[in-house]
Order: sequence, then structure tokens, then C-alpha cells
Amino acid sequence: TTETIEVLKMLSSQIAISIENSKLYLNLEEQVRSRTEELQKALEKVEKLASYDKLTNIYNRMKFDEIIDNEIDRLNRYEGTLSIIIADIDHFKRINDTYGHISGDEALKTHAQIIKEYFRKTDVIARWGGEEFIILLPETNSEIAFNLAEKLRKIVENNNRFSINEISLSLGVEEFKRGDTKEKLIERADKALYLAKGEGRNRTMRFSDFLASKLKKN
Ligand code: GH3
Ligand code: MG
Ligand code: MG
Repeated sequence: TTETIEVLKMLSSQIAISIENSKLYLNLEEQVRSRTEELQKALEKVEKLASYDKLTNIYNRMKFDEIIDNEIDRLNRYEGTLSIIIADIDHFKRINDTYGHISGDEALKTHAQIIKEYFRKTDVIARWGGEEFIILLPETNSEIAFNLAEKLRKIVENNNRFSINEISLSLGVEEFKRGDTKEKLIERADKALYLAKGEGRNRTMRFSDFLASKLKKN
């Protein structure tokens, strides 16, 4: 009947609208999903940029600070130890002045790589300053850290992977003491490094060596 035809017409146009709507909805969902994925990727990129040193491609100081803060928090709450090594390239200004800034940059890149390859995956290596590197060694006392630092020093002294072969490192080593703050621990390692410089460079010193040398002077 004409009436039935009218009802069917109305129904069919309603169905058509519903199909159109669900298509639109699916499209929107897909768009939201792909935008979220893009944002996630961008965020990962920003996080990487914020954590790594651009020249050497190892962690920067900010990332190292974050990691050592967490480690020290953990050690002050539970058991365990860690050591840090600060390694500073000797007379680096002279390397720049003699071979140029570009070669200086290459030296930094190569040595960051040598240090990275030398330590374990669980150790944390970062660029601490211009020509300074810092290494966090979990579950390592200062005795072992000292031996590791000495071995690294010899590797750098004898390394022939880089055209400039007069590069050497001075290193300061110190171990975590219960109740330590990051600042206190780093300050002690820095004092050991300062002693290594004062004693003629291309050597490794511990904070205990620094204390002993102060006693000797007094
Ligand atoms: P010391 O043995 O006492 O450590 O002497 P040094 O010359 O290594 O130390 P100083 O602090 O006097 O000089 C550090 C030099 O490192 C000066 C600076 O130009 C250089 N430097 C820092 N960052 C970079 C860098 O990214 N690239 C290059 N090529 N040089 C850098
Ligand atoms: Mg320095
Ligand atoms: Mg230096």
C-alpha cells in the first residue's frame, strides 16, 4: 500500500543516516588513534633529546642526576653500595689549541665511546662537563672501582684508535657512604680528581688518598 511504502521510505532513510554516522565515528576513532601514536613518538624523541649529550651520544648531566638521585635514595633506604668515577681529560685545552676544535670534538666522541665500551651495561656513563665524564658503578666498592679506573686510564694512555695519541685521563674515585647525598659523594670524588691533577695528571686517586695527602701536608 502507499502507506507501507511511505513507512519503508522513512525507515530506509533512517538506516542510511545511521550507516553514515557509524562510518564517520569509525573514521574519527582511527584519526584519534593515529594522532595518539604520533604524539607518543614525538614524546619519545623529546625524552631522548633531553637525556643524551648531542656531541658524544652518551647521557647528559641532567639524566645522570636523575639516575644517581634514585640510586642514592634506594641505598639510603635499603642495603648495598655504589661507587663513582670522575674522569677528566688532561690538558684538553692544549689539544684544542694544537689540533683545532673539530679534532677536539672528535677526541671527545672517541673517548666517550671507549669509556662506554669499557664499562658494563649496568654502569651509567655520562658527560659531566666539557671534557669530563662521570661513571656510576652499582654494587661496586671503591677498591674495585679504583682498579677499573686504573685499567681504563691505561687503555686511554695506550689507545691508538685516535690520531692524537697524547691523550690521558686523570680520575677521581669514591664510594657511597650511608647517609650520603649526591652532592657530598660527588664532592669527594672531585677532591680525589683534584689531587690526581695536582700530583701530575694521568693517574687515579681515591678520596682516602686526598685525606692522606692533607694529613701529610699538615
Ligand atoms: P686539566 O688537565 O687541568 O684538566 O686541563 P684542561 O685544559 O683539560 O682543562 P681546562 O678546564 O683548562 O680546559 C678544558 C677545555 O675543554 C677548554 C674547553 O675549550 C674544552 N672543551 C670543553 N668542551 C668542549 C667541546 O665540546 N669541544 C671541544 N673541542 N672542546 C671542549
Ligand atoms: Mg675539566
Ligand atoms: Mg681537563
